[in-house]
Amino acid sequence: MSKPNPRHPNFPIPGGPKLRAKGWRQEALLRLLENVLSVGEDPDNLIVYAALGKAARNWAAHDAIVRTLKEMDEDQTLIIQSGKPVGLLKTHAKAPMVIMANCNIVGQWAKAEYFYQLQEKGLICWGGLTAGAWQYIGSQGVIQGTYEIFMRIAEKRFGGSLAGRFVLTAGLGGMGGAQPLAGRMAGAAILVVDIDPDRVAKRKSIGFLDEVASDLDAALAMVDAAVKEKRAVSIGLVGNAADIYPQIVKRGIVPDVVSDQTSAHDLVYGYVPKGMSLEEVRRLRKEGQGQLMAASRASIADHVRAMLTLQAKGAEVFDNGNLIRTQAREGGVENAFDIPIFTEAYLRPLFCRAIGPFRWMALSGDEGDIARIDDLVLELFPDNHIVTNWIRLARENVPFEGLPARIAWLGHGERTKLAIAVNKLVAQGELKGPVAFSRDHLDAGAMAHPNIMTENMKDGSDAVADWPLINAMTLCSSMADLVVIHSGGGGYAGYMTSAGVTIIADGSEAATERLDMSITNDTSLGIIRYADAGYEDAVDAAEQGKVPHIRLG
Ligand code: NAD
Repeated sequence: MSKPNPRHPNFPIPGGPKLRAKGWRQEALLRLLENVLSVGEDPDNLIVYAALGKAARNWAAHDAIVRTLKEMDEDQTLIIQSGKPVGLLKTHAKAPMVIMANCNIVGQWAKAEYFYQLQEKGLICWGGLTAGAWQYIGSQGVIQGTYEIFMRIAEKRFGGSLAGRFVLTAGLGGMGGAQPLAGRMAGAAILVVDIDPDRVAKRKSIGFLDEVASDLDAALAMVDAAVKEKRAVSIGLVGNAADIYPQIVKRGIVPDVVSDQTSAHDLVYGYVPKGMSLEEVRRLRKEGQGQLMAASRASIADHVRAMLTLQAKGAEVFDNGNLIRTQAREGGVENAFDIPIFTEAYLRPLFCRAIGPFRWMALSGDEGDIARIDDLVLELFPDNHIVTNWIRLARENVPFEGLPARIAWLGHGERTKLAIAVNKLVAQGELKGPVAFSRDHLDAGAMAHPNIMTENMKDGSDAVADWPLINAMTLCSSMADLVVIHSGGGGYAGYMTSAGVTIIADGSEAATERLDMSITNDTSLGIIRYADAGYEDAVDAAEQGKVPHIRLG
């Protein structure tokens, strides 16, 4: 029994007790595929987020995936290659139901231009991190990550709070749309610039933006008033960040915190150069990709120069994982990397302990299931202040999108404990239905991305992509339900490889075994990756968590 979806009426939100597939494992994955489209940015074109991140290669591929998930038995494995189902193999009931490899291009060929050619020929699609893996849960998926970054900055620079502080950022898309809510939850006056009025309106309608300013003067006046009153507020402004940031510099205003989450990674399908209308950009995407790439790069250079000026004047400036510094450096801004990446600047000590974004989705569609799991998290981890604070805040502030879901930063041991306890609740009938667990690809042992996740690793292993591959193979051997290897598409081509996993808690004994082994091995590999790179925190975590890390000598 699906629910209507006012945002995308043709993509209802799945839910209810009735199975359309032969078992819950298959049904769960089908619901997750339906869910990423129901909360996606442009589901008619199968686009979920991050400019080009797609749930399936094309509609024929999508329909074949749906048909196969409905028909397949538990001792079969569906093979997906870049969003297209290519085979249904006989395996066994403990093997994954679905394995995928999305957008992996051989090294010397892994360039944006070649990716676009393959895409045009229908030979590939980019899965983003969570789009192609059917794990995306809407902007809420990165809210805690963004909130934790703001809180680390508050602790480092502003006595523990962003009250009375001005945060400037841009991008109100699928992931960037989380910024205004995360900023408001951290107590700040946050101004978010986006070139697309529809994206601004969307974030206002779901309550992530409190206000929309008519122009920069009005926006700055609103920020000023809120800062003086130490009032948390999120303000949207329609404009091009490459125009607005330099204008703020010109006025001599220095925000306390500055970042950006436009789709700067993709110079054709993501970033909008200044001076161009959205219509013009859409036309050039088809007819003038070279011109568009040059214009985007030039605008990004101006955008980043303004960020560097604000940094020199004392603002806390960071790259929030959109490759903006890389594009700017290629556009001639030699010192773009003076801006730090958020992972290294604020979160690496957490990753050393395999603490990262873990998420669960109520397949019943019932919000009460998430409320019960919220209670369980508070019961199980009363001393974990990051997570108890987050669950209390999220309950009050984070609206559900699509299937009710929650994300929380939990570490080794904690994730396994929670998942097994939830499986027990399913078995006891305390929840309305099974629960799917997954985690972001941007997680300790799961991603190699030398300009985001693994920048400046202690041992210099930034670009070594063995880790996500080991992660995926380990998860297949550990009985996970869905395992995927992704590499970058569009502007991310050649920049990254990551692995994703989904495991279904359907209340069975077999699910307990799958959850236990998959999640424990996943977080163990996270700790091993950082211990291997020489991080003492990870070596400690390995000892405390009894992680079997092999040391030489
Ligand atoms: P999206 O494509 O859904 O949204 C991008 C937004 O940027 C759009 O609303 C677009 O209108 C706006 N935009 C483009 N050019 C602009 C300009 N010059 N000025 C103002 N606005 C402009 O993308 P998304 O899913 O929100 O992701 C944004 C970026 O963040 C991507 O590069 C993505 O890969 C990255 N990302 C990082 C993390 C992380 O862990 N930190 C997580 C997810 C996504």
